[in-house]
Amino acid sequence: MHLGSRPSIRRIALLLFLVVPAAAWVIVKPVRVVAPTLVGVTCLSASVCVDDPSAFGTAEQLYAEALAFVAAEIAPLAGTPRVIFCSSSACADSFGLGARSAVTIGTIGTVIGPKAWKPHYVRHELIHQLQGQRLGVIALLFKPSWFVEGMAYSLSQDPRQPLNEPWEDLRRRFASWYQVVGKANFWREAGML
Ligand SMILES: [Zn+2]
Repeated sequence: MHLGSRPSIRRIALLLFLVVPAAAWVIVKPVRVVAPTLVGVTCLSASVCVDDPSAFGTAEQLYAEALAFVAAEIAPLAGTPRVIFCSSSACADSFGLGARSAVTIGTIGTVIGPKAWKPHYVRHELIHQLQGQRLGVIALLFKPSWFVEGMAYSLSQDPRQPLNEPWEDLRRRFASWYQVVGKANFWREAGML
């Protein structure tokens, strides 16, 4: 009989239950996308949030352009995913952006950092949201990066020629795959990668 093991299992379970969400909040800052108001970000529409309310008009325009662009060039997104536009690096830091210009967390939302207020950046992140919606967030983790990143760089029509490596190589590999697969069988073929 190992009577002693019961309380310790319960303690571990309790610890996991209490500590993991708190740790996720602190360590995995991007989860804050779920509740941006807690870090000084205001959502002035259902989908567009800003740290600087005076920049809301610009943010809304970038969002609308990217949403329409992705719908026309690839496929429409389901719903209107949340995008948080950070004007300050303090805002970006509070979402743990680090060296990244922008980040998309599954299909939950996107954070655009101060350097990423450009059409191709917002399109790029919405393409990641579309990938998550169409292929599944978990399945996407197992897709090759030439597909995930190559598609985002290529189909967002990122104007940088060439991109820094490895991104240029990933974009090139996606482009040759896309040329063969085409638009009609796109998601079926992508699902099999
Ligand atoms: Zn990307």
